[in-house]
Amino acid sequence: MSNFDISNFFDVVVIGSGIGGLTAGALLTRYGKRVVVCESHTIAGGAAHSFRRRGFEFDSGPSFYCGLTGADSLNPVKQVLDILGESLNAVGYNPLGHYHFPENSVPIYSDNYLYLQEVAKVTPQGATELKRFIDKMLPLYEAMKGIPTIALRSDWQLIPILLNNYLPSLLKMLPNLPLIQSSVGNVMDTTVKDPWVRRLIDLECFLLSGLKAHGTIIPEVAFMLGERSKAGVEYPVGGSGAIVKALVNGLESWGGKLLLGCHVEQILVESRQVVGVKLTNNQIIKAPIVISNATVWDTYTKLLNAHELPASYRHKALQTPTVDSFMHLHLGIRASGLENLTGHHVVIHDSKQDITIPGNTCMISIPSVWDASLAPEGHHVVHAYTLEPYAGWERNEEYEAKKQLKAQTLYKALERIIPDIRERVVLELIGTPLTHAHYLRRYQGTYGPAIEATKGMFEGASTPIKGLYRVGDSTMPGIGVPAAAASGILCANTLTSPDIRKNISSINNRGM
Ligand SMILES: Cc1cc2nc3c(=O)[nH]c(=O)nc-3n(C[C@H](O)[C@H](O)[C@H](O)COP(=O)(O)OP(=O)(O)OC[C@H]3O[C@@H](n4cnc5c(N)ncnc54)[C@H](O)[C@@H]3O)c2cc1C
Repeated sequence: MSNFDISNFFDVVVIGSGIGGLTAGALLTRYGKRVVVCESHTIAGGAAHSFRRRGFEFDSGPSFYCGLTGADSLNPVKQVLDILGESLNAVGYNPLGHYHFPENSVPIYSDNYLYLQEVAKVTPQGATELKRFIDKMLPLYEAMKGIPTIALRSDWQLIPILLNNYLPSLLKMLPNLPLIQSSVGNVMDTTVKDPWVRRLIDLECFLLSGLKAHGTIIPEVAFMLGERSKAGVEYPVGGSGAIVKALVNGLESWGGKLLLGCHVEQILVESRQVVGVKLTNNQIIKAPIVISNATVWDTYTKLLNAHELPASYRHKALQTPTVDSFMHLHLGIRASGLENLTGHHVVIHDSKQDITIPGNTCMISIPSVWDASLAPEGHHVVHAYTLEPYAGWERNEEYEAKKQLKAQTLYKALERIIPDIRERVVLELIGTPLTHAHYLRRYQGTYGPAIEATKGMFEGASTPIKGLYRVGDSTMPGIGVPAAAASGILCANTLTSPDIRKNISSINNRGM
């Protein structure tokens, strides 16, 4: 950030270059605002950033994506990239992964017909019940399909937009309204008795929201089932960092600024109105609008003084429960003899333990099977992770030993896929909740808010402070790359007149 003159006037300062921050920043730039994005880390992308060690390109977090490239994709990331004039290359694959239970392993296909066929091999009655469950979910997806996220905003002006442009889809939505805030568990209870399939549904929900079926809202799962079956599952060439790069390109090519290694110390507020931000080096960037991509806990404890928010509002926001953090194992391994290796696996070690118990459910991603450029020739890049509570972790003399010990559950999971994994390792990086919290600047290294269906809702972009907005996975619609991108869209659209957006989409449709 050395050559950058921060005394310039900006319309908007975005704190953080996670998917939510980049999306909001890039769209607002595209809509004509002067935007600067300040990122603490030296790499953009937050949880979705990629990092390189000794020729291996690692995803720090996400690796599972639908609809990154298809023309009619509903993925908000794709919709934003279209507006920015950016695109991605991606590799499609199916099955989307293998779920390894103690008693069997099952390939999970994106298309529901093949998915059900595989389940029928384990439990024919369960497959019939699962079909009934999916059939209850898909009408909501069909209704949501007609209203693209890119058209939405989070204030009253949404109502005329919906009525004028999306009336048929709204009418389709009406019979599904009771499903919108209901839990997946409620539908599962009325359609599925088979215990194997109930655990499968719990697992699918857990992988998505960090909560089982009774905690997960229906639109999240309806969207996942519909989108993976319709748009297919894809991995971005270049890794998750390629998505971040495309958003950064979009931001910069329309004139926005990204400052890396630029930590915001404080949001500046005068008379309940945002006036800018103060950086770690005491420099000040002035702007009438500040968008925080830091989590709700970080924004309201570290970036604002307590007295700047209404006490009851602040108290309630900070009471938002958290999903645990993670143990990560990033490995570079020798690939010889692994020609049939597939890229995504979920391993459950013990059926008698709940799937949410830290260490019991392990997620594995080996993206070099889709994109060989991510590893040196003859090698694969591996990321395995599992939930781990933040409490109890300290950088003391026991830290290294605890790290090694806790990584063993991940090695054991990997041995289900690659039995001689330990002999293949050429590079090992173990991350703990402290690593996660440090690099991603996330409170207690959390995956995100644990807001259970029917017990609360994610907050929208607005805050009680004039000019201060929030985006990212502790705002509506929640956790995940598409959801964080959707939060950025909702925020950017709320700050922009529908006419400006209409003009831009008509220019885009004519071809630029
Ligand atoms: C292990 C793991 C696996 C996942 N797998 C998937 C998956 O397969 N598919 C999927 O869709 N989603 C997945 N997710 C979820 C998804 O990655 C996240 O929900 C999403 O990326 C979060 O984006 P965000 O906008 O909330 O920003 P974050 O990623 O939280 O980024 C916020 C940014 O703000 C910066 N920041 C914070 N405070 C400051 C400050 N004071 N000054 C300057 N900068 C600051 C941080 O450094 C960070 O870069 C996964 C997440 C994890 C952790």
